[in-house]
Amino acid sequence: MPLPDGVTFVVIGGGVHGLSTAYHLAKRLREQSRGSGADVLVLDKGHIGSGASGIACGVVRNNYYQPAMRELMAHSVSVWERHTAVLSYHSVGYMQISPECMHEQVGTIYEQEKAIAYPSVFVEGAKDCDAYMKGLFGDWQAQNITSVLHEKKGGYANNMRSVEGLARLARSEGVRIETGVKVTGFERSNGSSSAVRTVVTDKGKVRCEQVVVGAGPWIKQIWDMLYLPNSISIKGRDGKLHDDVQMWTFWSLQEGTLGVDPRRQKTNDGNMPPVIHVDTDAPLYSDIDGSLITDKLWGIYYKPDFYFGGVQGGAMPLKINTDPDKVAVDPYGPASPDFIVGEDFRRMWCSALAHCQARFVGQSGKYRDEPSGGIGCFTPDNFPIFDRFCENVYVIADSNHGYKMIGVGELVATELTGTTNRLLEPFRFDRYVRGELHPVSNSPYPWS
Ligand SMILES: Cc1cc2nc3c(=O)[nH]c(=O)nc-3n(C[C@H](O)[C@H](O)[C@H](O)COP(=O)(O)OP(=O)(O)OC[C@H]3O[C@@H](n4cnc5c(N)ncnc54)[C@H](O)[C@@H]3O)c2cc1C
Repeated sequence: MPLPDGVTFVVIGGGVHGLSTAYHLAKRLREQSRGSGADVLVLDKGHIGSGASGIACGVVRNNYYQPAMRELMAHSVSVWERHTAVLSYHSVGYMQISPECMHEQVGTIYEQEKAIAYPSVFVEGAKDCDAYMKGLFGDWQAQNITSVLHEKKGGYANNMRSVEGLARLARSEGVRIETGVKVTGFERSNGSSSAVRTVVTDKGKVRCEQVVVGAGPWIKQIWDMLYLPNSISIKGRDGKLHDDVQMWTFWSLQEGTLGVDPRRQKTNDGNMPPVIHVDTDAPLYSDIDGSLITDKLWGIYYKPDFYFGGVQGGAMPLKINTDPDKVAVDPYGPASPDFIVGEDFRRMWCSALAHCQARFVGQSGKYRDEPSGGIGCFTPDNFPIFDRFCENVYVIADSNHGYKMIGVGELVATELTGTTNRLLEPFRFDRYVRGELHPVSNSPYPWS
């Protein structure tokens, strides 16, 4: 079917953000008798879920050191809970298990979770942490752990199933989703306005009033098409303005699956366990030959997952030091010749599993030797940008925090229909020049 000549809203990207925005926008237009899903067109150059959302591990948590992130996540968890079945969401909870250098910061997360009535338990001290963990898993053996934050909400969802669920929700509101359509540029208004009036694609042009960009790791390509800056000024924590800071950086996400029966990871009482995230500064030794892998802070996360067919999870991402203009985003994910995980990941992650729980000792031979992982495009401070550019282009650049942030689409829908949302305000682009940066945690990840 040919593309329409014009539509009110064009959404670029059929991932979690594009589809969530399209669904919530259509619903809002209908509820406010201001329109319907017929006013919303989603375009994706591949198929729905052909980006990061379709390969995400799918972990959903609140645990963030930044208050603004935490409030946003609490809202997103409520959206997951609203559509548990259609989004294939498993509310098993989430655990942040940490060493002493993170103890105090995780304690503040707990205090603030209490303040927003997000249910969690906080255990402190090496002995009590060990007892708490052994109460869940009799074979627990991770070292140097002095705090455990057990979030009772959150968990994980099955990546493609939730993207397909979102697409069903959007279509049920009358949204049109066109796949195999690549956006190649924009035409602006004549005169002094910088607003986009036409979205140009390889299948024709579409006039529109507003554009939503949910392009995930391809955000830099769309950013360039909009002639937005590739370097910016940031007022740092030192109070000084730092010029020429690179706008986008790519990181390679490291994930894989241990091909064991997912039921192997049940808790002592026979239930499916929370998602486990362990950070520790205990030396990590190879589970195969005993050699030292690292004596620096390291971290892993894992969950039993029938959808992946094993115990699936990951470790710290690797920064891609190539010039961002030269990073090949396509082919994406496991199809990439450049950015799939290698032997180093297997050695580290499988040994780390064995470090944490005796049931994984000697299991690294069961690691699923198939391409996995994918890249993410990160902002200068590694936190999202949700803002309007060129007057009518709403950019959702989640800095790879995003699968769990399914609720952002609902909040963006309110802004697209004229109501500013408090939860999105800490993520505006001008925070850089104003020096309103989010606090940084001691975790080994760029995203917590
Ligand atoms: C390996 C991996 C594991 C992850 N695990 C987690 C996790 O456990 N929890 C979590 O919260 N987050 C996780 N993330 C991050 C999360 O997946 C992303 O932040 C999120 O999915 C981004 O969603 P999106 O909708 O912005 O982009 P995407 O899902 O990437 O969707 C963007 C879409 O835009 C389309 N597109 C791009 N350019 C164009 C164009 N020019 N024209 C038309 N269409 C275009 C693409 O085809 C794609 O389908 C993970 C990421 C990776 C890579």
